[in-house]
Amino acid sequence: MSQKSFYIRSNQSEEAKVSARVSLLKELRGEILQKTQVFPFDIQSVGSKNCENLVGTVALPVGVVGPFNLPLADGPDITKIAKVIVPIATTEGALIASLSRGVRALSLSKEFNVQVEKVGMSRAPVFECATPKSAQKFANWVTEHSSLFEEASLATSSHLHFISQKTWVEGNLVFVRCVFDTGEAMGMNMVSIALSHWWNTLVPRKMKQDVSLRALSSNLCTDKKPSRINRELGRGYRVRAEALLPPTVLENVLKVAAGDLVATHVAKNVVGSQLAGIPAGNMHVANAVAGIFVATGQDIAHVVDVASSAEVFFEAVGGGVQVRLEIASLPVGTVGGGTLLPGQRQWQQIITGEKLTAHVLAATVAAVALGGEISGLAALCTNTLAAAHKRLGRSQ
Ligand code: NAP
Repeated sequence: MSQKSFYIRSNQSEEAKVSARVSLLKELRGEILQKTQVFPFDIQSVGSKNCENLVGTVALPVGVVGPFNLPLADGPDITKIAKVIVPIATTEGALIASLSRGVRALSLSKEFNVQVEKVGMSRAPVFECATPKSAQKFANWVTEHSSLFEEASLATSSHLHFISQKTWVEGNLVFVRCVFDTGEAMGMNMVSIALSHWWNTLVPRKMKQDVSLRALSSNLCTDKKPSRINRELGRGYRVRAEALLPPTVLENVLKVAAGDLVATHVAKNVVGSQLAGIPAGNMHVANAVAGIFVATGQDIAHVVDVASSAEVFFEAVGGGVQVRLEIASLPVGTVGGGTLLPGQRQWQQIITGEKLTAHVLAATVAAVALGGEISGLAALCTNTLAAAHKRLGRSQ
């Protein structure tokens, strides 16, 4: 290793590389690493696949929400799954208490159900053409030969299938947004690899004469950013959780009047969001999503996509309140990336007590996030949010 570099280009084991980097860290920063040297995973595998310049780990507390019945609505039927217990990795005091209260309110409510639609994972390369005319010609060719995307899927994966594609022509640029079924994986690598193969080997040389690949990802995908297109077309899973909170639940669990809950929703999530320019009206969907994503090994940067495509609704119905949370873009998986780390796998298994599926994980996220919206909003309208944080988050 060069004197001051953490990048080690050699054939030695990852364990040896970690040890060399930790020595360098100590040299540069002194003895500050005692709490960072617990490795509950295979260093060889993680150091070569998940994390470059590996030097240590960070421990996070995990609490649980539940158990509660997750009513998955598949078509007209509601399939009650065995009770779920949901791990939340967080350092935010009061969060798990609030999520638990919200989920309890949902469990005691009528018509509580979660619907999950697998939309598929998208990737949108952008191509630069010699002229606007050749751009249109290329876009037409891509659409006419869309079966080549399935060919690319089959050539690069045994779990990938092409679903659809859509093109946009902007001057001499062609954007091609392709959507794939990625099985149990979140699928970002899989779709990137397939599209790379499509361009490199399946697009004929004569088509490439006045077309070049400008970028494999054009931001029309859209990955790890708020976006209108994700809200319209969906990405990963599109989920909807809903329930009718009866007056008894409002009174005994949430300690709030129906009218207050709805008025606070309108003032905060609708009008406040509009004034602030927030692309999605929700209170704190990111909290539940981040907690579950970290615990189960999801790509944590996707919290942006989820929270910015999540819209919550509260409507007075009879003496109760109809609540609904719709998330247009929820990219989750149970294989690939960080989901394969042993600790994260164990937390996945805690959820249902058996091997978790991405479908159930998506439903779980929606249910807990809706619970968080209900409880958080109730705390706001009874003015107990600050007190709860002071009591639970700041105790010595
Ligand atoms: P991946 O680990 O790259 O691919 C999934 C792997 O799991 C494939 O090898 C697949 O097999 C295998 N697999 C086994 N059983 C499967 C099943 N039932 N369904 C689907 N696949 C199955 O993971 P990924 O989900 O594609 O990508 C996730 C990673 O991409 C994360 O680490 C994330 O941080 C990262 N990421 C990448 C990009 C990017 O642009 N490349 C962007 C954002 C995030 P096959 O070999 O048969 O396909």
